Amino acid sequence: MYQAPRGTQDILPEDQPYWEFVRSTAADVCRRYGFERLDIPLFEETSLFVRGVGEGTDIVDKEMYSFEDKGGTELTLRPEFTAGVIRAYIEHGMHTRPQPVKVFSIGPAFRYERPQAGRFRQFHQLNVESIGEQDPLVDAEIISVMWSFLEALGFGGLLLQLNNIGCPACRPAYMQALQDYYRSHVDELCEDCRRRLERNPLRLLDCKATGCQPLIAGAPRSTNHLCADCSQHFARLRAYLDELGRPYELNHRLVRGLDYYTKTVFEVWAEGIGAQNAVCGGGRYDGLTEELGGKPTPGIGVACGLERLVSLLRQQERPVPPPQRPLAYFAYRGDSARLAALRAVEALRSLGAAAEIAFGDRSLKAQMKAANRSGAGWAAILGDDELARGVAVVRSMRDSEQVEVPLGELASWLAARVTQP
Ligand code: ATP
Ligand code: MG
Repeated sequence: MYQAPRGTQDILPEDQPYWEFVRSTAADVCRRYGFERLDIPLFEETSLFVRGVGEGTDIVDKEMYSFEDKGGTELTLRPEFTAGVIRAYIEHGMHTRPQPVKVFSIGPAFRYERPQAGRFRQFHQLNVESIGEQDPLVDAEIISVMWSFLEALGFGGLLLQLNNIGCPACRPAYMQALQDYYRSHVDELCEDCRRRLERNPLRLLDCKATGCQPLIAGAPRSTNHLCADCSQHFARLRAYLDELGRPYELNHRLVRGLDYYTKTVFEVWAEGIGAQNAVCGGGRYDGLTEELGGKPTPGIGVACGLERLVSLLRQQERPVPPPQRPLAYFAYRGDSARLAALRAVEALRSLGAAAEIAFGDRSLKAQMKAANRSGAGWAAILGDDELARGVAVVRSMRDSEQVEVPLGELASWLAARVTQP
């Protein structure tokens, strides 16, 4: 017996209304904020992610699905969207368009992780990017679009975790302060942190080891080491968030350990999902486009994991738009009635309505049961007697009222009943 690969899951028809709700809400909210959809390939050259996500990150060091194709090209299933989006921005010369270029993507991402609740090897993200503008108003807009998305899904208790990690001008001095601090406590560090201390000291701040927590609490904070530019950017973003009434917490542990991540870093937490399980994470990457071979271009983006949202919606049995039911179900008795039903069901479908027809040699009673199960509003019943008179019997599935409708008008008669009985 085959099973879906570990860490992957099927999204069954009965799950689809939740997914459809999440996807259509995402697209609707993104459009309200002026983001256009961009679809990028599921795989890219491996080196794009190595440079764009960065060596030393969990993703690049441990989590990529990489393979060599039959032509010898090294490829990787996308573990995230930003690198691919920036590749597309550069490749299509989008710097010549009005800036910022505002795009969103929805689709699967792949990471080789240890599967557990809310953590999969194939999962879905809503990814939103604003490329080409450094105004902190853009940061506020990126935060707001995700915030509004979560609100539109009905999630409450949203909490924004915010930090500013500086830029190439001010970060070196901060890194020095961080290293000096940690070097004087090196005996108290976990093994991982001792290793990270020389290579990537920022990462010590998001260590999960219990022993490292008191050290993190006392560590120097990036926001106390910002240059004038970063400091002003941060102050303005906070003023915009205050203006919008978006509560936030300054969280100095929030970091991205790579040079091209600059200034704003944030996560959104939602009630019921738990503090460790942020739903969204994002940040500014003013150095990334240049790192990937483009002109120096500021940018900021955010990604939101969709599985956790869908599973919460399901757990809470939240009402979502129901799946489409057929307008009509066609039942028949006899061979010539079957042919007439076949013509009529196809005619109704060509008028844009959803319609079903019975299969197999089932009794009319069994067909009516099937009509009931299908959730159709109407059953059209064709028998030899009716056929001889050129009519069909149409029964309302709600109150079992019946009328006779001329066969030639059957499809248009049903199509006119757009609101189901
Ligand atoms: P974590 O620290 O939980 O591993 P991350 O920093 O790797 O998160 P991001 O790369 O910022 O996460 O991805 C953004 C969002 O995508 C996360 O907030 C989460 O909701 C979702 N996500 C990330 N990895 C997975 C996964 N393996 N399965 C399901 N959702 C995921
Ligand atoms: Mg991760």
